[in-house]
Amino acid sequence: MSTAILPAPEQLNLHAMNAPQPAPAPREFKNLRRETTVDAIAVLTFDRPDSAANIFNRATLEELNAHLDVIERDSTLRGVVLTSAKPGIFIAGADLHSLSTAPMNALREMVEFGQRVFSRLAALPLPTAAAIHGACLGGGFEVCLACDFRFATPDKATKLGLPEVQLGILPAWGGSTRLPRLIGLPKALGLILAGKTVAAKQALKLGMVDDLVPHESLLTVALAKVAKAGHKPHRPTSLAMKATNNALAANLISVWTQPKLFKETRGHYPAVLKALEVVTLGVGRTEKRSLKLEADAICLLAQTDAAKNLIRVFFLQERAKKLTFDGKAGTSPATARVERATVIGAGVMGAGIAQWLAARGVSVMLRDINTDAVARGMATVGKLFAEGVKRRTFTPVEARAAMDRISPVVDLPSLRRADVIIEAAVEKMELKKDIFRKLEQLAGPDTILATNTSALSVTELAESLCASERVVGIHFFNPVHRMQLVEVIHTPRTDAEVVRRALKFVQAMGKLPVLVKDSPGFVVNRVLMPYLVEAARLFEAGAEVTELDESMLEFGMPMGPLRLVDEVGTDVSLHVAETLASHYHRRMAVPEVLSKLVKGGHLGRKSGEGFYRHQGKEAVVGEAAERYVKDDSAANLDRVDLALRMVLLMVNEAARCVEEGIVSGPEDVDFAMIMGAGFAPFRGGPLRHVDTVGVANVVRAMNELVDEGETRFDPCGLLKDLAAKEKGFYADATVML
Ligand code: NAD
Repeated sequence: MSTAILPAPEQLNLHAMNAPQPAPAPREFKNLRRETTVDAIAVLTFDRPDSAANIFNRATLEELNAHLDVIERDSTLRGVVLTSAKPGIFIAGADLHSLSTAPMNALREMVEFGQRVFSRLAALPLPTAAAIHGACLGGGFEVCLACDFRFATPDKATKLGLPEVQLGILPAWGGSTRLPRLIGLPKALGLILAGKTVAAKQALKLGMVDDLVPHESLLTVALAKVAKAGHKPHRPTSLAMKATNNALAANLISVWTQPKLFKETRGHYPAVLKALEVVTLGVGRTEKRSLKLEADAICLLAQTDAAKNLIRVFFLQERAKKLTFDGKAGTSPATARVERATVIGAGVMGAGIAQWLAARGVSVMLRDINTDAVARGMATVGKLFAEGVKRRTFTPVEARAAMDRISPVVDLPSLRRADVIIEAAVEKMELKKDIFRKLEQLAGPDTILATNTSALSVTELAESLCASERVVGIHFFNPVHRMQLVEVIHTPRTDAEVVRRALKFVQAMGKLPVLVKDSPGFVVNRVLMPYLVEAARLFEAGAEVTELDESMLEFGMPMGPLRLVDEVGTDVSLHVAETLASHYHRRMAVPEVLSKLVKGGHLGRKSGEGFYRHQGKEAVVGEAAERYVKDDSAANLDRVDLALRMVLLMVNEAARCVEEGIVSGPEDVDFAMIMGAGFAPFRGGPLRHVDTVGVANVVRAMNELVDEGETRFDPCGLLKDLAAKEKGFYADATVML
């Protein structure tokens, strides 16, 4: 038993299995053990072996069920408390592997079994409580909902919620039924439909937990509560709850919410609409009938491509957390640890990186060319921390302490003790080479020399140095505090151990790495740029700004391409596009509208106008760009055709990344594009999308455009090859002809 979670046995008066017990259940308990206090309270402790996390899998459910057999028969018991032995996790959720791979009848059986077990817990005649510390999500929170009381620690690690819709499914172990009954329909919908996870304080405010209790007294308080309750408590229904939790009100809420949700999701996320239907219908029905709605809905949703793809994205995220280079974890913990970092350039990216690292305990030296530039950088850092405090990511004290970990400098001292140096100065090769030559002199023999360049050659940069084997790309995305993806770029000269250390560093900083061999634009910018360039080209050919952007919003992108160009800056977009065009020539030739906008000072949001005119958060189509429309050859293309062209160029480039071996497989490109560019997650990434549509169909569509003289659509060799062999990028391709 972990002392971090439970007080010492003598304090609790646990006499474990020594107490007279009814006949033991005929099985081994590996994931969930039961002990009984001298006050006759059964303590069920989740403690999955050989794992830092508890999850609800079949075995755990069976064990809970078997414990309930015993508890139901034991008339001496006065209550039950659920707890976890893991230091930072209560229960992270259901076992998605088995849920996502189970055939339909097995899935239904598993869902119904879970419902039955949790309903047994809910129906115990004894008072029950959950003592929650750490992540309490999905099935983990659903089991707590089946208890009479919930106590949680106020710690940062404690997070509660039902994130199922984010995986394309819905809470189906009673969550969609019990949460509205506990906190009221409107609040429950707010949580379930957004798949939101909340901190303990917010959970208390919403009524998801009864009280917040310091970790050291959590179990004691939960035990005392059930002991004091004596018998099963009755929660009276408040008037407010009565007003919303009835069939009539629920129907009104549903009718009012449904079109809004449809507009927001554009119909791409069926789970959101289905969850609305189940929760609002269920609240007016008996628990039993509501649970049946849950089970029917999850079985339906689990078959959708959206659920399969969203669950895949979840697994890809988990994979990134453990990603290794060459299959070797390498590095001793000592060399992998990053305690001191230097960031060169205190602009948008440098300040963002410095703030992120300092917030994770790293001492950072932030350097720029003069005091004004450094002061601007520190002001950006201060703003980021202030926003974090407002969002309650940090307490003011934590923010202050982290801010103090950053030393702004103009003159660099010796950097021999720096574990990593990240260069984020302006995007100019000669300048970066100059900086790196100086860094090489100042750094220690083990210091990682990293560049945050967007598109310059890391290899060329490395080759200009003696210590080329220590140079990597560590490419953060903007804004650093929100974007989880980091591309870790290695050159033919980078030492394998340096790559491993860079990977570990990125993971330790809580980011999700993708490993990329150096090549122009790496993955995300390389695949994104032809798409943005095509949008600008179609604009020059008479397609309207709103049609172009709407077509891609309908496809499932979070933002239209021209709006994205404006947000990134027409100048930055032009610069990256030109860098890539110098390598990929005609297939990325840059349309003139971009350089003309830049020349005219129309830099997008930052200057007030680009393709749009920006005012605060609002944007209306601008007039400046209209002058650069060349003809009307694309004016009659409908949204489907517009989107098709932009998507085809993206998938062609994504396929080339696999063909050229710059990533280890299609999943890397799909993952990078979803996490780094917001590629429609429900489609599973550009290459998964190709498989869904059918490679042959994609190649045919490309060839038709080539036949019309649009040679940039020429499909790459890998696409042609797969089409000829009637294969997909993934073994389990679903081909819809
Ligand atoms: P920025 O213009 O906001 O900041 C660059 C900073 O570097 C400026 O403060 C400048 O004074 C400083 N600088 C110039 N020469 C320097 C030197 N010799 N030593 C130290 N500092 C120096 O640029 P940014 O957007 O932060 O981009 C920085 C790097 O990150 C670029 O390579 C860029 O391509 C890359 N990047 C940018 C983004 C983005 O969206 N902005 C995203 C990913 C990567």
